[in-house]
Amino acid sequence: MTPISEALEIIRREVFRLESERVVLAETGGRILTEEIRADMDLPPFDRSQMDGFAVKTDDVRNAPVSLRIAGESAAGRGWSGTLQSGEAVRIMTGAPVPAGADSVQKVELTEEENGFIKILKPTATDQNIVRKGAEMKADQSVFGPGELITDNMIATLASFGYQSVSVSRRPKVSILATGSEIVEIGDTPGADQIRNSNSAMLAAFAGRLADVTVLPIARDDLENLKKTVREAIRSCDLLVISGGVSVGDYDFTKPALREIGADVFFERVSLKPGKPTVFARRADTLIFGLPGNPVSIAVTFFVFVRMALLEMQNAAITGLKKGFARLTHPIKATRERDALLPVSLETDEAGHLTIETLRFSGSSNFIAFARANGLVFVPRNKDLEKGEVAKIYFL
Ligand code: AMP
Ligand code: MG
Repeated sequence: MTPISEALEIIRREVFRLESERVVLAETGGRILTEEIRADMDLPPFDRSQMDGFAVKTDDVRNAPVSLRIAGESAAGRGWSGTLQSGEAVRIMTGAPVPAGADSVQKVELTEEENGFIKILKPTATDQNIVRKGAEMKADQSVFGPGELITDNMIATLASFGYQSVSVSRRPKVSILATGSEIVEIGDTPGADQIRNSNSAMLAAFAGRLADVTVLPIARDDLENLKKTVREAIRSCDLLVISGGVSVGDYDFTKPALREIGADVFFERVSLKPGKPTVFARRADTLIFGLPGNPVSIAVTFFVFVRMALLEMQNAAITGLKKGFARLTHPIKATRERDALLPVSLETDEAGHLTIETLRFSGSSNFIAFARANGLVFVPRNKDLEKGEVAKIYFL
């Protein structure tokens, strides 16, 4: 059996890196950056007011209430070009430039206007309600670097520095192939010996965050048919995920099919629960994963192995799941020989701890419990975990 860490090492080694392309900014969420993003100007580019109110000299209002002459107006997009003199205030709006000579802004609620004069009711502190030029970012500073996953939260920053488009890795083309003579399409009513295909849609959703996905029709458990289907599938994708048929049953044809079409199989048994029969192979320039058909095994092996491959292909700097630690609310029995990564629900308790609620699993096929999982807990082989113990977790 291949240890998990070695399996991940092999994936990293065998993955080929996809080329870069420029993508319009609004569509870059979920893509991996391949260029250095630099500030092309100070941010803010001028001393900016954070309030609607009056720009003043802090010294002038030290003994407020005090009346000042309204010398002009600074609106957003139309600043006041003069220099504030002692005894004067400038009406100012949120987002407008603070005029020269002013060093604080009093908000309009703490002022009273009376024929050309403004009474400032409370003193201000220096810099109050002002964001100084360059306080958020200085021109030419590096903002984001190659390998970063672009989140939607980063888009406003990229826009602010003039990036109409961004250089990112091409998204991998992923095809998904469910196998199993018992599997029927979601829209069909399963017959006596049949079940609906829950894996293809789930895999399409998981992979769709990081790749362009094609879902293929279900393949029967038939070696020749499977070989033909796989041969055709790998012509038009970078990565093929095959669900099912990787165990040692009489009708498990995924491995024979991969071998007979000339794929190199790098590992086929991983010391992981669930997910022992996970297969990783490559044929020409397509990576192929064969994942055990149980929906929960599919989910865990996708998050541990396939997700990493998709991120490595796109040159991501961080390709593993986000790690953490949390406290167990229930004991967990370890598995002999294999490390376990079990889906769990992560919660917070009143003491501010992150806690691990184990899901009531009646086996690796219990995807109804899995529906509420938002993390995986790591259970080392042969080492039972006690209630109250702090365990290693991964966020999903
Ligand atoms: P296999 O890996 O083909 O031995 O399948 C293991 C278990 O997962 C069996 O109970 C299958 O019926 C089930 N299974 C396989 N593929 C799917 C699928 N696409 N959707 C739902 N269950 C599946
Ligand atoms: Mg099967």
